[in-house]
Amino acid sequence: MQYTSTRNNAVNVSSARVITDGLSSDGGLYVPTEIPSVSLRDIMRLADKSYIERAKSVLSLFLTDFTQEEIDYCVEGAYKKGKFDSIAVAPVVRLTENEYVLELFKGPTCAFKDMALQLLPYFLTESAKKRQGNKEIVILVATSGDTGKAALEGFKDVSGTKIVVFYPDMGVSNMQKLQMATQEGSNVAVAAINGNFDDAQNGVKSIFTNEEILGKFKENNLTFSSANSINWGRLVPQIVYYISAYCDLLKTGKIKLGEKINIVVPTGNFGNILAAYYALRMGLPVNKLICASNKNKVLTDFINIGSYNRNREFYTTVSPSMDILISSNLERLLYLLSGEDDEYVSGLMSLLNEKGEYTVSGTVKSKLKEFFSAGSCGEEDTFATIADCFNEYGYLSDTHTAVGINVYEQYKKETGDSCTTVIAATASPFKFPSAVLFALTGETPRTDEFEMLAELEKISKIAAPEQLLGLKDKPVRFDKIYDKNNMTEAIFTMLGI
Ligand SMILES: *Cc1c(COP(=O)(O)O)cnc(C)c1O
Repeated sequence: MQYTSTRNNAVNVSSARVITDGLSSDGGLYVPTEIPSVSLRDIMRLADKSYIERAKSVLSLFLTDFTQEEIDYCVEGAYKKGKFDSIAVAPVVRLTENEYVLELFKGPTCAFKDMALQLLPYFLTESAKKRQGNKEIVILVATSGDTGKAALEGFKDVSGTKIVVFYPDMGVSNMQKLQMATQEGSNVAVAAINGNFDDAQNGVKSIFTNEEILGKFKENNLTFSSANSINWGRLVPQIVYYISAYCDLLKTGKIKLGEKINIVVPTGNFGNILAAYYALRMGLPVNKLICASNKNKVLTDFINIGSYNRNREFYTTVSPSMDILISSNLERLLYLLSGEDDEYVSGLMSLLNEKGEYTVSGTVKSKLKEFFSAGSCGEEDTFATIADCFNEYGYLSDTHTAVGINVYEQYKKETGDSCTTVIAATASPFKFPSAVLFALTGETPRTDEFEMLAELEKISKIAAPEQLLGLKDKPVRFDKIYDKNNMTEAIFTMLGI
């Protein structure tokens, strides 16, 4: 299978190249030139297999320049026992008669980013072996919280790699900061910067093209790569769990083979829901993909009216991983819905860049409506949903998942649709203890993270994940705050070059 760029159909490269490059040099995103299919017979066969076997099978359809042995090695390493809290890796949990939650937060950092970032380091090092010999790869990440920690856990002590993470000092939750500041591993470095997420992201982008840094890297036999969510290597592992969820429902008799399901995804950068769309295009029986936004509802508006407009107020919410106004992965959807029209996509992306907005054609709009539905959920409703869901179904959700549950309730009321539905649960409620406690008790919680974990355990009668409890005894290794204009120095200091 070959890959091309959303902005230039003349591009034709292998999956190993796609994974090491991250982004195509024309600024477009890499996409496969064809979408492999899974038949109902394949699904039936996969239903009897473990998550690891399902992953091997789906991934080998997309990563055709990897041998089966290489894929087996990568997948087993990423999802082996001990890395995830559940043998199911991504378990499906019942909410009501025909509503289920797909728990994607059983990995080392308690958010769904682990599903891809446990696997990416394996793919990246295997790809690098195929491509660039023995250069050491430096992974640069700008994060608003979950990605940084998940990338650190994925790359820690992976030989042939180093990882440097930048985060905005005031822009992440206390628990997220603690997770990063205590990170273990001999090849990791973490830096807070005195700016916001955009400063961190722009700083990282400029490092990639900084002559002085590039020169030093060459001298030291180093090369850059990115673990950003636009890397195809992060998207493809996410296709697996939607197929896996269908297999689980089938295996336990909750649905019949071929029966269509709805999939609800709390969305930010449009990566997770795009993976569900790829699963649909592969042949997974899906009725509607339901895109859930928080108060930053740029995607909901886009799906409902066909115009994307980022010229709007940015809100900081209790679901911070969805606070985003430019959803990068949407470009891949536009490419697919426009019939792989690279010129059309380039045009829209120029408009977004220059004017901050674009409107899609009638054809694209009607295709959007055919596959997607969308809604948004504000702060008050997020809190109310956490409380209602816990009181009515005994299910404790985090703030991001609650947005998904709320938008699904709205969808059900509006449409009367009663298809079996799977809601993606993207983080553990214990990762956002202050907001979840507030939702349950109406009281402003204490300030100590570990007291809050204990309180939440008591109220919910659910044990907090060891990955979070254990942070209490870990020494802080990274507490330096760098100036946002001095990230070059930070890189040199941290890499010791
Ligand atoms: C990253 C993240 C999201 C958003 O996922 P996208 O793929 O960016 O749409 C939602 N919830 C949580 C907890 C996340 O970490």
